[in-house]
Amino acid sequence: MSEPLLKVTDLVRYYGTVKAVDGISFELQAGQSVGLIGANGAGKTTTMRLLTTLDLPDSGEIIFDGMDAASWPEKVRSRVGWMPDGFDPIDHTTVFDYIDFFARAYGLTGEKRENEVERVLEFCGIAQLHERFINKLSKGQTQRLSLARTLIGNPDFLIMDEPAAGLDPQARIEFKQLVRTLQNQGKTLLISSHILSELAEMCDTMIFMDSGHIIRRGSQEELIESEKNVSVYDIRPVGDTDSLLAWLAMSKEWQEATLLPDGLVRVRCLVEGAEATALALRGLIAENMVLELSRHRRNLEETFVNILQEKK
Ligand code: ATP
Repeated sequence: MSEPLLKVTDLVRYYGTVKAVDGISFELQAGQSVGLIGANGAGKTTTMRLLTTLDLPDSGEIIFDGMDAASWPEKVRSRVGWMPDGFDPIDHTTVFDYIDFFARAYGLTGEKRENEVERVLEFCGIAQLHERFINKLSKGQTQRLSLARTLIGNPDFLIMDEPAAGLDPQARIEFKQLVRTLQNQGKTLLISSHILSELAEMCDTMIFMDSGHIIRRGSQEELIESEKNVSVYDIRPVGDTDSLLAWLAMSKEWQEATLLPDGLVRVRCLVEGAEATALALRGLIAENMVLELSRHRRNLEETFVNILQEKK
């Protein structure tokens, strides 16, 4: 494998006595899309701010394309695009003026600046809104503006904190299409979100964080498979649901009956291993209460919740 684009080692950041980031280490290869997942306060934003060089770690190291971020913050910053969570619109500023301001701040002048402003506005599909005041934009248009600002200077590593939060379904789809185009251009992406299904669609690798730690990482498949020792089944009862629930309550092999909206009952097998599970299934079927049975495959969200519960 080639040298990673980003190598993070033992990163620690305290806020007073709170250890917001507690010794995390990971690597990203160029062109990878990585989802950062964690509950509120897990340390995602702090991690992202450290990677953008907006904040300094108390200890640990960030090496970006061979450069130590602490020694070369400006060089690293020029390669990193940061799309923060939320956007504070400024009064009396048009879309054009806003992007032009950041292009100037980036050090672009003359024709180069004009071309860059046009490029990012076109890419994000808001060129036609260039005269619109930014405090009059819809949420979806505001997110596009925020992305346009992030893309000034054509950074190769993009860090996005909750980029799809608050978008309606159509705006979400459009935003994902923009992300896909950036991936096709070879950008490296680190995206945080609370909407795990959405991250799963956009990212090839996930990093699960909790209390400042990385608790698991891998592809969606790897993470779901890593929890496969727990077997969950959805059952459609033959007769009334109550008889099945009563039987489950007495069972040593089955538990956790969740009633699903369409008359199904979700149950969890307490025994482990293929043979013991097969035996438990035969026992369940022999009771003549099962009309239909299907294995429930955990999604990423359930996997994450399960991993957090196991940790406690
Ligand atoms: P969320 O999903 O809610 O945005 P997060 O995973 O991004 O959460 P962080 O914002 O990184 O989490 O916060 C991690 C911890 O650090 C939390 O306990 C938070 O209260 C604390 N923290 C973050 N920023 C500061 C700050 N500037 N001063 C004090 N504590 C902070």
